Amino acid sequence: MHDSLTGLPNRAHFRDALNHAIEICQREGTEFAVALLDIDHFKTINDTLGHDKGDVLLCALANRITAILPQSAMVARLGGDEFALMLPQQMDVEPLDQAEQLIEGLRRLIVIDGDNFSISCSLGLALGSCDSEPGDLLKQADLALYRAKEEGRNCARPFDKRLESQAHQRLEIDRIVLGRSPMDAIEIVLQPQIAICAAHPHCRFEVLSRWRTSDGGLIMPNDFIPAVERNGLIRAVTAVVLHQSIRLLRERLENHGSDIRLGINVSAADLEERSFARRLLEDLHAADVPPDLIEIEITESMLLRMTASVKASLNTLNRGGIQLSLDDFGTGFSSMVYLRELPISSLKIDRDFIRGIETSRDRNLIAGMIAMAHSIGKEVIAEGIETPQQLELLKTLGCDWGQGYLWSRPIPPIPALAQFAAPIPPLT
Ligand code: C2E
Ligand code: MG
Ligand code: MG
Repeated sequence: MHDSLTGLPNRAHFRDALNHAIEICQREGTEFAVALLDIDHFKTINDTLGHDKGDVLLCALANRITAILPQSAMVARLGGDEFALMLPQQMDVEPLDQAEQLIEGLRRLIVIDGDNFSISCSLGLALGSCDSEPGDLLKQADLALYRAKEEGRNCARPFDKRLESQAHQRLEIDRIVLGRSPMDAIEIVLQPQIAICAAHPHCRFEVLSRWRTSDGGLIMPNDFIPAVERNGLIRAVTAVVLHQSIRLLRERLENHGSDIRLGINVSAADLEERSFARRLLEDLHAADVPPDLIEIEITESMLLRMTASVKASLNTLNRGGIQLSLDDFGTGFSSMVYLRELPISSLKIDRDFIRGIETSRDRNLIAGMIAMAHSIGKEVIAEGIETPQQLELLKTLGCDWGQGYLWSRPIPPIPALAQFAAPIPPLT
């Protein structure tokens, strides 16, 4: 009934205790809460420190949790870095407050044999009552834990009914993306990027992808990209997007010389693959498409996972002549160090700022971002321009490029090129 590493109750023991708590609840009308807790990025910690130190850390954490919680609470280890807690009803203390205090307490430095460890944990909370089922409670706590991780980790989140329907939606979309090959499902659309004050205006578009379901429906990237990412399909999706984009560039070159540039979104998993940059350059070479017709868009949040392989990929792309731009600028955790070190040629200011440009606060922020970008030799693209007033203000601020519904929504390549690229001359 006990876990051999930490000496804490194990999963079977916890389940028994849970059944018991429900019985008491039925008899005495008391309530209790169940929580699941795990260490943020424990795998990385384990991989860096080695499993022996990882084990020592787990024991230290078990002691810390037990010391913070009241005696009447139960702490169990379910396996790996996953702990289950049972918190009996306490006078004047809400279970969520108790959980938040715990998360706070676990942030304090852990010292083992003179080594300092700074970790954080995430926690999901479910409230038990007399008609709870043990399995349901654990599932609810698990969904709440998933939410805590999604909302940035190092926090406690309670279960609520909506999490269940979101989990169903996730399952449904997982089923859809696993049921069709990206090769059949992915369609690309283009959105033009228009020169505002650009020194060297040329014709450029952002490539955005859509997932076509087998019954003809269309799923937007904000819904299917997370699903393909969690199911290990993102590289296949990127490969299809790149393939279609290169084909489009090839056709344009054949019929019209090199007149368009395409911006392509990639995910962290693409850049983590060491061969990604080399293969892209090879594909461009094979299709006889100059690399500078492609711009790879990376997001700020990707920089948070700036591993050696990501950095190497970015440098290879850049040395090969491919442009890089930083997407959703201003919304993530942009570090000036990355701006200084990475070979990025343009910044895309997120549309959240453009939406607020008529307030002086956002206008000043945008002016600052543009000045900063220009001072280090980078171009600025404003995303999500919807009104002529926004465009006018961006012009006065010296913004180089604009993209948004004011000109066009993302539309299929043929109409996009017909409308926004120079017309293809008739064959003579
Ligand atoms: P993003 O790269 O920041 O792309 C811009 C998004 O803003 C697009 O949404 C575009 O349709 C939308 N947008 C453009 N102008 C306006 C405007 O004036 N108003 C409003 N309200 N929205 C505007 P979309 O196509 O739904 O794509 C969403 C996100 O999904 C993209 O954000 C990008 O991060 C990601 N994404 C799209 N295609 C791909 C892909 O092929 N691979 C990867 N990894 N991510 C992709
Ligand atoms: Mg983008
Ligand atoms: Mg963006």
